[in-house]
Amino acid sequence: MENLKSGRGIQVVVPGPEHTFTLDEEALEELLLRDDVKDRSVVVVSVAGAFRKGKSFLLDFFLRYMHNKYNLHGSGDDWLGSEDEPLTGFSWRGGSERNTTGLLFWSQPFKATLDNGEKVVVYLMDTQGTFDSETTVKETATVFALSTMLSSVEIYNLSQNIQEDDLQQLQLFTDYGRLAQETSEGAPFQRLLMLIRDWSFPYDHPYGAVGGQQLLEKRLKVHEGQHPELQTLRVQIMSCFEELACFLMPHPGLKVSSDPKFKGNLADISEEFKLCLKQLVPMLLAPENLIVKKIDGHKLKSRDLLLYFKSYINIFNG
Ligand code: GDP
Ligand code: MG
Repeated sequence: MENLKSGRGIQVVVPGPEHTFTLDEEALEELLLRDDVKDRSVVVVSVAGAFRKGKSFLLDFFLRYMHNKYNLHGSGDDWLGSEDEPLTGFSWRGGSERNTTGLLFWSQPFKATLDNGEKVVVYLMDTQGTFDSETTVKETATVFALSTMLSSVEIYNLSQNIQEDDLQQLQLFTDYGRLAQETSEGAPFQRLLMLIRDWSFPYDHPYGAVGGQQLLEKRLKVHEGQHPELQTLRVQIMSCFEELACFLMPHPGLKVSSDPKFKGNLADISEEFKLCLKQLVPMLLAPENLIVKKIDGHKLKSRDLLLYFKSYINIFNG
C-alpha cells in the first residue's frame, strides 16, 4: 500500500514559448495508464485559483482524507490527523512548484468503490495561475479551461468574496473550454464549487454550504435593470455547469496566515476552520459524492483521460 509521504505533485502541463503548452506525457502516462487503474472510471477533483490563497494547504487535507478513507479504509472523523502532526503533500509556502502556472497532479491515484459498486480511480489536481498581466491572463485562462474540461469537480478557490472580476474570469475560461468541445446538449461541465476563503461575514451568511448557497444566489441573480453584459455573464456561467455550489470557509487563524514557523499542525488551526473542513471534504470526496468524469455524456476511463489531455493540448496549441 502506498504511503502518502512518498507521493508528490507532478507538473503535467507547463506553459511553453509563444503561448503554447507543454504536456509531460511520460509522467501522465505513468500515472493514468498504470495497470491497476487504467480501466477504471475516472474522477478528477481540481482546485483552481491564484497563487498563495491556500490551495495546496487545502489539497493536503484532501490527501489525508483520501489516504485514510480509501487506502486505510478508516471511518469517522480521525482522517483530519493528530494535533501535532505537520501537514505534508503538495508543498505549500515555498517549494519549487510554487508560482508556476500550470496543472499539477498528485502522483498517487486513489482507488475507490462507489455506492453502486462501480470501481473508480480518483486523481487530485492543482491548477494555478495569475491574472495580473495580459500574457498571464491568456495563459491562465487556457490552463483553467483545460482544468475545467478535464475535471469532474472543479473547486474555484477565491479569497474573501465572489467579486464581479471572479465571475468574469470564470466566464473567460469556460468560454475557452466550450470552444474546444463539440458541445452536444446540456451543460458541458459537471460540478463547480466556489470556495470562499477567509469569509468574514458569518452574520450575513453563515459558514459552510448553506451560507454559500445564499451568497451564490445573490451573486448570480439576474434581474431587470442589471447591465445586459452582467446578465449574459450570469446566464452563461449557470448554463456551463450541471451543478453549481458555494462554500464559505472561515479564516484559519493567525498562525496559519502569518506565522513563519507554522508547519500545518492542527493545534495551530482555528476550531471553526477544522469544523468546516470536516463538512467540506466528505461533501466532495466521500464515496457517495464522487462524480465520474463525463465528456459529451460518456463516462471516461483513466486511459481515456490521457487521450483527452493530448487532444485538448493540441487544440490550444494549434
Ligand atoms: P497556494 O499558492 O494557493 O497553493 O497557497 P498555499 O497553500 O501554499 O498557502 C499560502 C499561504 O496561505 C500559506 O502560508 C498558508 O499557511 C496560508 N493559508 C492556507 N490556507 C489559508 C486560508 O484559508 N486563509 C489564509 N488567510 N491563509 C491561508
Ligand atoms: Mg500551491
